[in-house]
Amino acid sequence: MNTDIDIHNSNTSIYEDITCFLKYLKQMGATGTDIEQKSLQCMRQWLQPIVQKQTPETKIKTQYPSQKFSETKALEQPQQKQAFTHSNDTLTKLLKKVKSCTKCKLHKSRTQIVFGGGNPKSHIVFVGEAPGFDEDKSGKPFVGPAGQLLTRIISAMHLSRDMVYICNILKCRPPNNRRPESDEMEACFAYLETQLDIIKPDIICTLGSTASQKLLNVQTSISAMRGHFYDYKGIPVMPTFHPSYLLRNESKKREVWHDMQMVMKKMQDSVQT
Ligand code: URA
Ligand code: SF4
Repeated sequence: MNTDIDIHNSNTSIYEDITCFLKYLKQMGATGTDIEQKSLQCMRQWLQPIVQKQTPETKIKTQYPSQKFSETKALEQPQQKQAFTHSNDTLTKLLKKVKSCTKCKLHKSRTQIVFGGGNPKSHIVFVGEAPGFDEDKSGKPFVGPAGQLLTRIISAMHLSRDMVYICNILKCRPPNNRRPESDEMEACFAYLETQLDIIKPDIICTLGSTASQKLLNVQTSISAMRGHFYDYKGIPVMPTFHPSYLLRNESKKREVWHDMQMVMKKMQDSVQT
């Protein structure tokens, strides 16, 4: 065994992890970070021999997982046109039904329904709680302050909003953004189930306790659930903190980044298998 090469490979991976984490912090609005001179020097030493030794082959091998995922996906898209159109048609039929839904009391106070949006052939679906003020006005999910943070999280994953699909447990806004009530979630849940049946993602990321508990039918706290994969009809689900919670608790961004790294790794594995 050539230990020299192993050390280089593991240093590359640590270096990439640190680089990606710093990029993520930047996306999240951080303007700087503290790092000891000694640590900086140590990282420079790691990088030197790696850059020199890297051939095109090793570069591909050590590429960051999500980049590989997005490239694979981009290549896949033209061949999947038929399936894409099919999912789109089926979702459009469901959308028509939801638009006129009066199954729960929220239909009375909504401006319009917020069905969901993004790529109906996406490998990943993000599920939030319910539309807020901005979403109720625009008809689009996650467009307010929490949505802007979600957009930054998605781009830190080397993805864009039009590559993923985003929806909510409830399709109508609860008055004053109060928590969804269980009868409302019960009435609306079939729409989400159908959306997921049509999209058939490889992975689902639930945002916050309401979405996580409802989709997985558990009562566990989000702090206990996050960082672990659960199962929804054979699809791995990663619960993580809701972006609006992150807006109030900056320090939790680190945990969300950890969860998103697990998600990216899982997506890469599912594309390869
Ligand atoms: N919060 C959510 O859970 N969903 C949205 O669409 C917006 C904010
Ligand atoms: Fe229908 Fe869901 Fe809106 Fe209730 S929240 S009215 S169930 S679409």
